[in-house]
Amino acid sequence: MTTLLVNEAFETIQGEGSFTGTPAIFVRLQGCPVGCSWCDTKHTWDVLPSEKRDANVILQKTLEAPTYFETTSAVLFDLFKQQAYRAKHIVITGGEPCMFDLRELTTMAIDKSYSVQIETSGTFEVKCHPKTWVTVSPKINMKANMPVLSQAMKRANEIKHPVAMQKHVEELEALLEREGMLSNGCGTTEANTLIYLQPISQQDRATELAVKTCIEKNWRLSIQVHKYIGVE
Ligand code: SF4
Repeated sequence: MTTLLVNEAFETIQGEGSFTGTPAIFVRLQGCPVGCSWCDTKHTWDVLPSEKRDANVILQKTLEAPTYFETTSAVLFDLFKQQAYRAKHIVITGGEPCMFDLRELTTMAIDKSYSVQIETSGTFEVKCHPKTWVTVSPKINMKANMPVLSQAMKRANEIKHPVAMQKHVEELEALLEREGMLSNGCGTTEANTLIYLQPISQQDRATELAVKTCIEKNWRLSIQVHKYIGVE
């Protein structure tokens, strides 16, 4: 059994990428060493034993905090039931969820007829059920200087790249070229991986750049809808 460290679990609407608008149970795992300067979940970075709590305390929490609970996949599904969650889509995010072996959790989700999605930075090997939708948001040249892995890029169903300036578009192009995944002009790679640009922090200039580049390259735009409609 794999032990999971859960910072929070809650039901909401997925606001990003291909599943935008889909009711979803978000499972945010604790721990991330990547160090993105603009990270909006910095409270998930460290795993401090002093911040460990009971599951019920975490499931009721409303403020961002580095607190977490330790669980297994089976117990997590019992908790979903106890919380009366109705969504049939699960998003495993973080932190960096691929620091954990996610085969057990994703297999259990598929067996229970959920669709399941992982959102990862691509800096750890992705271990999951083959039917899992994998979103790689490649974090290139961040503080910890961790390489984006070929395994993660090749496993991705969609690549969702955060952009604020032209340099970020160029970094993505270089990464796609390194992986032999150049766009086919239809908004996907040769391997049919969808490519999204996502403006960082809803900045106007970032949004303008993302819109212009998506039109030029026939890529897709992801605009963090949940932040516009005021849900988590
Ligand atoms: Fe934050 Fe994600 Fe970057 Fe980790 S990979 S620092 S959780 S944005």
